[in-house]
Amino acid sequence: MTRSVADLSQRLIAGDRRALAKAITLIESTRPEDRARAETLLTEALPHTGKAVRIGLSGTPGAGKSTFIEAFGTHLTGQGRRVAVLAVDPSSRRSGGSILGDKTRMERLARDPAAFIRPSPSSGELGGVARRTREVMLAVEAAGFDTVLVETVGVGQSETAVADMTDMFVLIHAPGGGDELQGIKRGIMELADLVLVNKADGDLLPAARRAAADVSAALHLMRPKHKGWSPPVLQVSALEDRGVAAVWVEIERFRTTLGESGLGDLRQAQARAWMWADVRDGLLHALAADAGIAEEAQRLEGEVAAGRLTAPKAAQTLLKRFLEP
Ligand code: GDP
Repeated sequence: MTRSVADLSQRLIAGDRRALAKAITLIESTRPEDRARAETLLTEALPHTGKAVRIGLSGTPGAGKSTFIEAFGTHLTGQGRRVAVLAVDPSSRRSGGSILGDKTRMERLARDPAAFIRPSPSSGELGGVARRTREVMLAVEAAGFDTVLVETVGVGQSETAVADMTDMFVLIHAPGGGDELQGIKRGIMELADLVLVNKADGDLLPAARRAAADVSAALHLMRPKHKGWSPPVLQVSALEDRGVAAVWVEIERFRTTLGESGLGDLRQAQARAWMWADVRDGLLHALAADAGIAEEAQRLEGEVAAGRLTAPKAAQTLLKRFLEP
């Protein structure tokens, strides 16, 4: 191990914020030599990880995620917890700047010495962004943060990625006009361990009540994700800082319900799935990086598109060529 990585990991484990920032830069770097160093660093850090409460948070843009995280994070640091906020935002590449990276968001929390806010890496596809976020999660845990909030926008596939790296998935919903479930996809509702109906204040209060009832009814029709846990629906006002303490109570109740072994099993399954996702990604990258294969792939694609070859036969041919050159 190079001396600088050993030194960095020691400072990281000691909770040095500058070391954490450096570690994250290393983790997010795309340079091959940095990758190797990042892996060494994470291996060093690993025994110091896993002690945090890992919470995923999702909701459509405008539902009040940042307002909620600001209120909730501040509540938690007030209780003596150390809170890291990470983001998975695969749309950041398209928009050229991360939606979740806006510096003006969560101003109060950003100044809180017990909090650490890291926007989503500014480039990459979902798989890559999510993989880096997992690694960043390990780094913040090693640095002593005991609560990790992983935020994502309520669009696309990022919810599944976030649910797969956290202990508990929280959905934030804001009441809309008319159909109170509008904007929540069934697949996302199925991931939820807790639903917060935000903006339960002022003129929106009656709509929030209806939304909460509708969400509860919809949840009752779904298969439970964890034995013994039916996802509660809470009405909160992030803006007025109401109902926020109750959210933590539910999170603790969830953890008690799962128990240490339930949580351990969940994390083990997540780690195994992560390994295989990396194996798949690695194979695909190796495939894409092989010029001969790329040429053959193009030819086979043409054959498949023209209807001269079945897709499975083409796939088999390509794999054979790759595995037995
Ligand atoms: P995000 O896109 O999900 O991060 O949503 P924001 O936190 O940026 O909030 C979107 C808008 O909803 C902002 O104008 C907020 O002030 C407003 N908002 C957030 N939480 C509440 C709330 O609890 N009540 C009300 N009335 N407005 C809220």
